Amino acid sequence: MWGSSRWARSAQTTIPCKHCGNPLTVVRSCQVVYMQCEHCKKKGELNDYIAQMDDALEEFMEGVYCDRV
Ligand SMILES: [Zn+2]
Repeated sequence: MWGSSRWARSAQTTIPCKHCGNPLTVVRSCQVVYMQCEHCKKKGELNDYIAQMDDALEEFMEGVYCDRV
């Protein structure tokens, strides 16, 4: 309900889960960003997946940083 809706609190990426291979969702909770698998419900550190960053994740992170400033 607050502010713009140009970016969401989560975004679907194409980065495969390390556990099951399904695409991960990137989730922002307060000031913490993490990767979550909707399939096996495992959470992962963003840093573990940052090397595999795709367009969706990059765009999402830009939103996070814009929000902080
Ligand atoms: Zn998984």
